Amino acid sequence: MQVINLSHHIGGQVVEGAAALEQHNPSKDNDLKVTLPSAYAAVVDSAVASATAAFGKFRDQGIESRSDALAKIQQLIMANSEELSVLIARETGKTLGDARGEVGRAARIFGFFSGECLRIVGERLESTRNGAMVEIEYAPVGVVGQITPWNFPIAIPAWKIAPALAFGNTVVWKPSEISSATAARLMELIHEGGIIPGAVNMVLGGGETGAAMCEHSGIDALSFTGSVATGKKVRMAAAERGIPVQTEMGGVNAMIVLEDADLEGAVDLALNGAFLAAGQRCTACSRIIVQDSIADKFAARLAEKVAALKVGDATDPSTHIGPLASPKQKALITEQTAVMENTPGAKLVFGGTKDPLPACFFPPTLFDHAKADDPIAQEEIFGPVAAMFRVPDYETGLAMLNDSKYGLSSGLCTTSLKYAEHFKRYAKAGMMMINLPTAGIDYHVPFGGVGASSYGAREQGRAAKQFYTVMKTTYLKG
Ligand code: NAD
Repeated sequence: MQVINLSHHIGGQVVEGAAALEQHNPSKDNDLKVTLPSAYAAVVDSAVASATAAFGKFRDQGIESRSDALAKIQQLIMANSEELSVLIARETGKTLGDARGEVGRAARIFGFFSGECLRIVGERLESTRNGAMVEIEYAPVGVVGQITPWNFPIAIPAWKIAPALAFGNTVVWKPSEISSATAARLMELIHEGGIIPGAVNMVLGGGETGAAMCEHSGIDALSFTGSVATGKKVRMAAAERGIPVQTEMGGVNAMIVLEDADLEGAVDLALNGAFLAAGQRCTACSRIIVQDSIADKFAARLAEKVAALKVGDATDPSTHIGPLASPKQKALITEQTAVMENTPGAKLVFGGTKDPLPACFFPPTLFDHAKADDPIAQEEIFGPVAAMFRVPDYETGLAMLNDSKYGLSSGLCTTSLKYAEHFKRYAKAGMMMINLPTAGIDYHVPFGGVGASSYGAREQGRAAKQFYTVMKTTYLKG
């Protein structure tokens, strides 16, 4: 078994600590063990001090040097993409194909923000006071605290760290305790890319480390991605200190399939959205809302395709569905699925909890005839579990789709322009997917939802500037 013992990275130095947490390869326990320390207040303190000390120097280095470093990191990620992808597959259970896609995306995000450094444009306006001018410029926020989840262990850190650096901020980053080996490798590449020591600091650990960051008075803004429950704690800590915060959280995403849709194509979209990445995507589709007139045919085809999905070791190229990320996740998904199995009315079509799989594997699980108030309709199941809901028409389907406190990604399968236009306007979601899976988002466009899914400025693309800069207005009279 390979053992990786991790350390914090502060001010360009490795800072050791006693191993407090462990992650094992969720496909096979005896393949990889990652141990990591937990950063309590003193370690977080020194990471914040390091980011604070580096801030002035990093900001004043100028945009060309930042742009070059981000471009270099893009190249380094690409040059090490296979090693990173295998590590992600072994550490988190993401299939190798998905991991390769994610690593490519992370590299391109650094490339995108390498360009954005050169486009930090302000405005100059004439003042109403004769002879005076007004200048609006976008300055860095300062030290940004970033807390990331395990399900996109390199792309989510990339979409937080790259814009933070592009706009001249320094960073204290806490990756998930489940994906810290991938994070440590990314840290090495960030330094190799030429980012000065202290501009990005990584503290390891679980919730206690995240909480210590949220409470630290030296952090000027907080960016979080993870569960709704943790997001709320992060927002409360930020509110207490009066600092900017963005929290990207979960969803109970839905897709409506109308009778005029390409049926075979819609089945594939549902399959992709619900089951690939073992359903461990915040944009995964757990509610498949199908018009009555095609529901039997759709259900039969979907069940056939679900049955053909191969569950297996994440590093095996023939695997469609890898394991859940940890024993804790498996216990949670098993419990949520058992509740659905005992829900009157809903019918288990495939998978379920009756024949448990070894390690952290969980079968793709499909329910049919689910109802709007069933648990799966209201609560996120972060695993390969989805339910079909049957509705008479588009209007009933849309009302059901919108009946959620969440609103991340919503889908519609139709050939009708009328319904597509209506959906664009009235679906409760930050991202609308028409004839595309709910999951699978571009790297250069804004990402985020409405309702309980997201809070604060959008991430990714040009929208990232809103969170990572402060607007400064200067009145100037010569
Ligand atoms: P999580 O909330 O358990 O953990 C996320 C991060 O927060 C981890 O680094 C964790 O250590 C840290 N943390 C835990 N307690 C904390 C506390 N009290 N204070 C500060 N930090 C704390 O989430 P997870 O299980 O890692 O990720 C899965 C969740 O993330 C799902 O709900 C999923 O929908 C969501 N997610 C959302 C997006 C998005 O962009 N909307 C993307 C990916 C995942």
